[in-house]
Amino acid sequence: MEVFDVLIIGGGPIGINCALESEKRGLKYLVLEKGTVANSIYHYPLYMTFFSSADRLELGDIPFITTAVKPGRRDALEYYQGIARRKKLNIHTYEKVETVDKVEEFFRVSSLKADYVTRNVVIATGFYDIPNLMNIEGEELSKVSHYYREPYGYAGKEVLVVGASNSAVDVALETYRSGARVTMVVRGDEFSPSVKYWVRPDIENRVKEGSIKVYFNASVKSISQDFVTLQQMSGTLVDVPNDFVFAMTGYVPDFRFLESVGIALDPLTKIPSYDPLTMETNVHGIYLAGVVCGGRDTHLWFIENSRDHAAKIISALGEKRNSKN
Ligand SMILES: Cc1cc2nc3c(=O)[nH]c(=O)nc-3n(C[C@H](O)[C@H](O)[C@H](O)COP(=O)(O)OP(=O)(O)OC[C@H]3O[C@@H](n4cnc5c(N)ncnc54)[C@H](O)[C@@H]3O)c2cc1C
Repeated sequence: MEVFDVLIIGGGPIGINCALESEKRGLKYLVLEKGTVANSIYHYPLYMTFFSSADRLELGDIPFITTAVKPGRRDALEYYQGIARRKKLNIHTYEKVETVDKVEEFFRVSSLKADYVTRNVVIATGFYDIPNLMNIEGEELSKVSHYYREPYGYAGKEVLVVGASNSAVDVALETYRSGARVTMVVRGDEFSPSVKYWVRPDIENRVKEGSIKVYFNASVKSISQDFVTLQQMSGTLVDVPNDFVFAMTGYVPDFRFLESVGIALDPLTKIPSYDPLTMETNVHGIYLAGVVCGGRDTHLWFIENSRDHAAKIISALGEKRNSKN
């Protein structure tokens, strides 16, 4: 029976970093990834730009060289997939983990294709798979999307963008520049302070000149084929003509999966229980890495500040192994 030292669930940047660290430490590891390598980034908007400069997205000592200071999606895919390819990392793509069960001192990790036995598990599953739903009438219509790819399908159309942070602002500006008539709806009275510093003047000036209309202090009440109904804080309802809705309302980690493996979540914030020194959860032998650690607050962790989770975990595993020998 093949027994892994560590099975890493998720082949995003942080899962890849765990694989690199495992190689360095001589641990027997396997990454199971439900899509392609760096699957979340693969599904990002085609022309997005990272807010981090390339050096802050680097893994290990592998340089991330780009001609622009801020890399885009394609640069990041070349970089992360290139690492997996060149380092011949042990990754099974298109193999989603369904369950993790404790069997004596081991874990059985099961996908639809196979069962694996491992001493330790790292969960690096990110947060990009489950959108924060608005839970309103009409959200299920095919013209409503929580993901955005590129602007060219919307020229001459009425587009509503829901949200106040980077994703919403990027969608609004791109679709406006490609000929859409764009309205935004923002729950608070301003755009998020996290909007990229070089993008903020652009969106603010487009709003000021009236090219993009924004309803601040408002939310979407319902969506129908030809209209959206917005509700302002005063209670006033406004019908806005509409062809497409981009609900950039954020995403959440798969809490059900975390709970199914026995990880305790804070009832309010859903932040999982783990030791920040080793990243080990309340389930002995199960570790968390990357943005999955943030619970509902998906702005807490990003690549820049969670790259070091890999070294923490793998050095803890190395020490654990040495203390048993
Ligand atoms: C538009 C956008 C721009 C961003 N810009 C920046 C930036 O400039 N700088 C920065 O530091 N961060 C940025 N972030 C955040 C960062 O890109 C992501 O948070 C990053 O991808 C997190 O890495 P991760 O490995 O923790 O998670 P992810 O990259 O999400 O990787 C998780 C992986 O797990 C896989 N997976 C999930 N469930 C399973 C399962 N059951 N079985 C097997 N595989 C599974 C997924 O397919 C995915 O590939 C940005 C995020 C977005 C959305």
